[in-house]
Amino acid sequence: MPEVKKEVRTYKVRYVCDRCGIGDMEATGVVPKGYPGTYPHSCNHCGAFQTFDRQYPEIRLE
Ligand SMILES: [Zn+2]
Repeated sequence: MPEVKKEVRTYKVRYVCDRCGIGDMEATGVVPKGYPGTYPHSCNHCGAFQTFDRQYPEIRLE
């Protein structure tokens, strides 16, 4: 197979806090036991907690 080059764009996907609308939700890095695939996050501005099925900030290639 020959090498094929393709340009991709890199996006950093943030999730803005639903509560204060200012801070970003950041993964706490702790996966609760018994709940694989869930990622607790906390806001870096107001400290609100929210759980997602993916981690933010996320690096996405398109
Ligand atoms: Zn917040």
